Amino acid sequence: EKIFSGFSKTRENLSVIDELLMMWNLSDTDKVLDELEEALLVSDFGPKITFKIVDSLREDILSGKLKSGTEIKEALKKFVLDLLTSKQGNKSELQLGFRKPAVIMIVGVNGGGKTTSLGKLAFRLKKEGVKILMAAGDTFRAAAGDQLEIWAERTGSEIVMPENDKAKASAVLSQAVKRGKQEGYDLVLCDTSGRLHTNFDLMEELITCKKSLGKVVAGAPNEILLVLDGTTGLNMLPQAREFNEVVGITGLILTKLDGSARGGCVVSVVDELGIPIKFVGVGEGVEDLQPFDAQAFVDAIFS
Ligand code: GDP
Repeated sequence: EKIFSGFSKTRENLSVIDELLMMWNLSDTDKVLDELEEALLVSDFGPKITFKIVDSLREDILSGKLKSGTEIKEALKKFVLDLLTSKQGNKSELQLGFRKPAVIMIVGVNGGGKTTSLGKLAFRLKKEGVKILMAAGDTFRAAAGDQLEIWAERTGSEIVMPENDKAKASAVLSQAVKRGKQEGYDLVLCDTSGRLHTNFDLMEELITCKKSLGKVVAGAPNEILLVLDGTTGLNMLPQAREFNEVVGITGLILTKLDGSARGGCVVSVVDELGIPIKFVGVGEGVEDLQPFDAQAFVDAIFS
């Protein structure tokens, strides 16, 4: 329901072609596909995926495979659904390995919803009986630790805070994983500093953090989840590429899909990076993190 209302603008943009499709006949094909192309671009699908969709529909129309407006609409929905599900594979669930503790690093630019998503993820996994330790690795922004402490309280999780103002993020994270190992935690959730993807020093720090975790538990971190703000539209693409090149992202969390999210960029980011969306954020409350459901997404953007 929340995703459905969050994508109302995208749905409205895309529904402009519905009337044309209702009255479609073969001679209208170019006009309808031009309108569709425009609607997809306006909805932030980005040129690459838009042209792929339109070319595929044109081919199927001209070969006689699609014979009515309804069939064209269904083919459009199926194209997007197939693309999302093929890239998701069986990796849309968290891959936490067998060593304890498992480690998840949460990364992303400031304000995207990293800390909030970490808190919501803790709430979700605690309900499944996972014993969680949080690590306040955002040592750059003073208030970030306090914010995470509130989430620790809210979810009844333990937390490792920086020892002092000068503590390095990598030290906080490896200390947390050591404690997790000694005290039998199932999972350590590591917050990191929000950074601009163009800030080289801070990106370097992420590499150091990643390496330091692997020194404590072989194979850690099991997941590096990139948090992307769903309202930023196609701007999320360069961010995602950069983070992926630097640290290797294993999954995405798309936040603020309850707001005025730009639907098309969800498809673009999955198509370009081939990284699965693991969760979507649909609000600020503890329960507002859901596994990504490609079918629900497609139903929400196409009326
Ligand atoms: P960080 O800087 O990346 O750690 O971002 P925060 O976790 O502090 O989140 C920034 C703001 O976005 C806060 O006001 C959050 O409550 C809000 N926020 C995060 N996720 C969502 C979401 O899924 N939906 C909505 N509506 N707000 C969110």
